[in-house]
Amino acid sequence: VPQLVIEGLHVTVEGKEIVKGLDLTVGGGEIHAIMGPNGTGKSTLASALMGHPKYEVTGGRVTLDGQDLLSMSVDERARAGLFLAMQYPAEVPGVSNANFIRQSLNARAGEGNEIPVLKFHRQLQEKMKKLNIDASFAERYLNEGFSGGEKKRNEILQMSMLEPRIAILDEIDSGLDIDALKIVAEGVNNLKSPQTGFLIITHYQRLLNYIVPDRVHVMMQGRIVKSGGRELAEYLEAHGYDELKAELGIED
Ligand code: ADP
Ligand code: MG
Ligand code: MG
Repeated sequence: VPQLVIEGLHVTVEGKEIVKGLDLTVGGGEIHAIMGPNGTGKSTLASALMGHPKYEVTGGRVTLDGQDLLSMSVDERARAGLFLAMQYPAEVPGVSNANFIRQSLNARAGEGNEIPVLKFHRQLQEKMKKLNIDASFAERYLNEGFSGGEKKRNEILQMSMLEPRIAILDEIDSGLDIDALKIVAEGVNNLKSPQTGFLIITHYQRLLNYIVPDRVHVMMQGRIVKSGGRELAEYLEAHGYDELKAELGIED
C-alpha cells in the first residue's frame, strides 16, 4: 500500500519561507483534504512535492513508500507514482492529449514494458466515455483552447489513466460548474482503492459533498493548524476561516 510521509517540511519561494514546518501522512485508500485561505501555501506544498525547481525545500523530510522523495528528480517522482493535477494546467501546443498520456504511461512502465498502442487507445476511449469527455479530445493538443472545466476534466483523465500511488489535486474544483464538479468527483471516487492515496487541496467545502474525505486538514500560514473528520469542512463552511483563526489565536 502506498504511503506518503511529510515531516517538518519547510519550503522557500524566491527567498521567502512559505511552508513552515508541515507534517502529514497520506496512505493508500485514504482521502485527505487540505483546506485553507488563499495565499497560505497550499499550491507551494504541492509544487514542492512534485519537485518544481522554483520551490526550495529548506528543511524536513518526505518519503514515498519509504524512499526519499526529495532526492528524486521530477521524472523519478512521477515514475514512483506521484501525480499532481494542477490549479492551472499548462497548454502544450503540438502534443496531443493521447500522446501525452501514452508517453507518461510508457515512461512509468520503463523500456521494454510499453503499453501496446491498440490496448492504450481502447483504455483511453473507455475512460473518456466514463468521464463524459468527447472522443475528439484525444487528438486535440494538450489543453490548447480548452475551457477551464475541460482542462480540469482532462487532468482527471490523465489521473485515471496513470493510476498514481499518490494523487495530489490542487483546487481542481475552482471554476467548475456543478456538472463538471460531479464528473471530477466521479473520477476520484472511481480511482479510490487501497492502491491510491489522495491529497485534495480545496478552498471550498463544496467539492467535499461529492468526494468524502477521511481526514480534513486546515492550513494557515504555512502549517496545518487543525485536523479532523469531514465535520471540520462543514464547520468551516458555516463559520469561515476568520472565525477558526480567532478561535485558534492565530494572528495575521
Ligand atoms: P495558496 O495555494 O494557499 O493560495 P500559494 O502557495 O499559491 O498559496 O502562495 C503562497 C505564497 O507564496 C503567496 O504569498 C505567493 O505569492 C507566494 N508564491 C507562491 N508561488 C510563488 C512563485 N512562483 N513566485 C513568487 N511567489 C510565490
Ligand atoms: Mg490560491
Ligand atoms: Mg493555490
